[in-house]
Amino acid sequence: MMVKVVIVFLCFIAVIAFIGRALFPSALPKVLQKRRGPPRCPRCGRYLIGRETCDCKGRAK
Ligand SMILES: [Zn+2]
Repeated sequence: MMVKVVIVFLCFIAVIAFIGRALFPSALPKVLQKRRGPPRCPRCGRYLIGRETCDCKGRAK
């Protein structure tokens, strides 16, 4: 019984998160957002303008 409640609750949260992400992508924390604007190095945070890799070998995918 308790397990069922937990599963339903998790499903509910997942649905809410899915809908929220679809409707309000900008409301998400930056970590969860898809990359927008100028690409930045995921390691050092430097902007990677005109290039794909950073000096620190990080990739700005
Ligand atoms: Zn870097």
